Amino acid sequence: MTKSLFPFLILLITLAFTCYGQEISVNSDRLHESLMKLSSYGKNANGGSDRQAYTKHDIEARAYVKALMEDAGMQISVDFAGNIIGRKAGKNPSLKPIAFGSHIDEVPNGGDYDGPVGSMGSIEVVKTLSEKGIQTDHPLEVIIFTNEEGGVVGSRALVGALSKEALQVVSSSGFTQYEGIKLLGGNPDRIPELKRNVGDLAAFLELHIEQGGNLYSEKLDIGVVEGIVAIEWWEFSFLGKANHAGTTPMNMRKDPMLPAAKFVLAVNEIVNSYEGRHVGTVGKIQAFPGAGNVIPGEIKMTLEIRDLSSEKIWEIYSQIEKSAKSLASASEIGLDIKHIEVASKPALADPMIREIIKSQAEKLGFTTKSLPSGAGHDAQEMARIAPMGMIFIPSKDGISHAPEEFSTKEDIANGTNVLMNTILELDKRLK
Ligand SMILES: [Zn+2]
Repeated sequence: MTKSLFPFLILLITLAFTCYGQEISVNSDRLHESLMKLSSYGKNANGGSDRQAYTKHDIEARAYVKALMEDAGMQISVDFAGNIIGRKAGKNPSLKPIAFGSHIDEVPNGGDYDGPVGSMGSIEVVKTLSEKGIQTDHPLEVIIFTNEEGGVVGSRALVGALSKEALQVVSSSGFTQYEGIKLLGGNPDRIPELKRNVGDLAAFLELHIEQGGNLYSEKLDIGVVEGIVAIEWWEFSFLGKANHAGTTPMNMRKDPMLPAAKFVLAVNEIVNSYEGRHVGTVGKIQAFPGAGNVIPGEIKMTLEIRDLSSEKIWEIYSQIEKSAKSLASASEIGLDIKHIEVASKPALADPMIREIIKSQAEKLGFTTKSLPSGAGHDAQEMARIAPMGMIFIPSKDGISHAPEEFSTKEDIANGTNVLMNTILELDKRLK
């Protein structure tokens, strides 16, 4: 090639890239400003967030969210469960919407990123598309869910999984869900009417902070979520005989603390003996009667196991149960085991969406890792009715649900760009 042609060729290549590739990106300054503004609603003296669902801070923050949605060109509605829904029409109204979103409520003294990143990120995506004059074929729906931290209330309502009894549960604001939903402008009596069914949405996506330390410690940009783990709980009671700690000789005791202590170690050993990313925890121990000068008569402890596969959870559990039984019988101690219903099933991300998230992230030059979500999210409920995908960004030191929760402005913009490009690619493929 002659030298004179070279600059021309470069120009052509650049032009081709600009026209072909989605060379658009979100406005990271604007996104960060909206996050900071949102965090001002309910900021407490510790620097934490007291924006629990249904509080005055939550209600004021929701007004701010609606204003942002309107500015981004969305049509806003609040459904009977209090979910805020922003719609942007697609070119083809016969297609089902691509939905995405998160929550803005926090745990008491929580952080500024768990929920808000995905909420503000979703609105920023629509704002950017509107600004650049890009209209997708599918309608778009941004959903800001009601009371995620209090039991994924809004998303459960949306998929028809919120019972009447659940509405009577008192939330951390002091209001029942029923009262709280009314405060948000919902109508709890009519919740059954808003149920969406399988096929009503083309897909659901959620951008979220990881809340764990995988991405941060490995210095990776984007987490491609494989799914949200199932959780199972049990209560183990080791039953001995309470007696005087001073007058009962060592060889005449029936002390349930001994097998219970060995049990804690056994749980850790058994859980570690399996390959994979499952976790098992003894998180609560109670001694009865619970006095320094009494040999306990009973030790109660909880066991929790989480994994993407329910079968694997039960396989690990069966080994733990075996070990507990042999520890108890070796010390001539009784054992009582109760399975506690938490009704948490694994929610797997859609394989095609996972592949799109990964390839779009890599196209943008980001490093990725596939990983399960150990925490619950609205996406786990939405997976019951739509192909689901989740995008994680790093959490500093893996801290969450605390004032120290932090993600960088750059990571937030990166995650939001991956969300936007995933939506655009899904818009092309889901036809
Ligand atoms: Zn969250």
